Amino acid sequence: MTIDQFNFAGKKAFVRVDFNVPLDENFNITDDTRMRAAMPTLKKILADGGSIIIGSHLGRPKGPTDKFSLKHIIKHLEELLGTSVQFADDCMGEQAAQKAAALKPGEVLLLENLRFYAEEEGKPRGLAEDASDDEKKAAKAAVKESQKEFTKKLASYANCYVNDAFGTAHRAHASTALIAKYFDKDNKMFGYLMEKEVKAVDKVLNDIHRPFTAIMGGSKVSSKIDIIENLLNKVDNLIIAGGMTYTFTKALGGKIGLSICEDDKLDLALDLLKKAKEKGVNLVLATDAKIADSFSNDANTQFCKVNEIPDGWEGLDIGPETEKLFADVIKGSKTILWNGPAGVFEFDNFTHGSRAIGEAVVEATKNGAFSLVGGGDSVACVNKFGLAGGVSYVSTGGGALLEAIEGKVLPGIAAINE
Ligand code: AMP
Repeated sequence: MTIDQFNFAGKKAFVRVDFNVPLDENFNITDDTRMRAAMPTLKKILADGGSIIIGSHLGRPKGPTDKFSLKHIIKHLEELLGTSVQFADDCMGEQAAQKAAALKPGEVLLLENLRFYAEEEGKPRGLAEDASDDEKKAAKAAVKESQKEFTKKLASYANCYVNDAFGTAHRAHASTALIAKYFDKDNKMFGYLMEKEVKAVDKVLNDIHRPFTAIMGGSKVSSKIDIIENLLNKVDNLIIAGGMTYTFTKALGGKIGLSICEDDKLDLALDLLKKAKEKGVNLVLATDAKIADSFSNDANTQFCKVNEIPDGWEGLDIGPETEKLFADVIKGSKTILWNGPAGVFEFDNFTHGSRAIGEAVVEATKNGAFSLVGGGDSVACVNKFGLAGGVSYVSTGGGALLEAIEGKVLPGIAAINE
């Protein structure tokens, strides 16, 4: 079933969204991209005359806590939807069940953070650190058992299920995957956002126009090894940017000063370079860096060769020579995937490289390339520079996007297709 084919009139839809938005210390939403991304789906259901039970997680709570309560987002959700939103301060207690049962067409109920319950993720909580293997096994079995009840309860609130949470599609959680089995094929579907995400991933996986360039930035190689290895089988150019640069540079014998580096990944970096060569992939590394004498926006700065960073200094952005090198590769590409910033873009004095990459991606897109930008920080990056409108697609998924591109089957997607 597709959401466009489905008429929600008189129906109650359980909609799993990803409202895992960043909040500041006063609980103001600092980036509402994920909330806005779910609006087309929610508005279609209301326009049809349906009612909505919204389920989401926020952060990584280990149990109920005010800090991660979804009550902080109600006001903004009401503004975005243009209607009032009821709130149930639990997900599976009497209150949630009663409020869900009383929902009338056009009404919206937001459930409290699903991850306040261990059952959402199906992982035991509160186990003593010295728990024996048997105790761990028993706790796991117990939570898996109560997860069934939890999932059934969530499903009982609605007569159709919509998954619009691409950000958690790589998790086989109660509300993202397991719940789908309580709805038959005609009553479960992707939301508009999920549909778009699936299509965009498909384009970079199965409909590649060459040259295909991946730009991998961010801080650590270790979190991106699998995707880099997988991309080596697909791309023509692999640009390594951001903090990862220095693990490669050190592995190649360069001087990197205090730059971020994973010393236990030097061999891995060399291995990736070797594999790239074997596969004929043009792996592009930075040649110069903008270095700082402390990890701060106000640090003293200078430019130097990436492998000649003086003691006491660290690379926090790429230099002008590298910007040009990367931009030339990007502008000559027909398919582009960008994940991770080129530098510490949170500091205004170290945004230049990420902005230059973003601008090159926008220019390539103008010239007909398909560009997919994904991963939490890359999204913040294109938003910060006002470039989101100039790329083909900005994914709301971080881990989910990377796993999809690694070629893995995402449980949240499989559960709808089954
Ligand atoms: P990731 O979550 O792995 O995509 O990493 C994103 C983070 O990498 C951002 O917070 C950046 O500030 C950080 N980052 C990028 N370049 C550097 C660098 N040269 N040194 C330290 N951190 C960096």
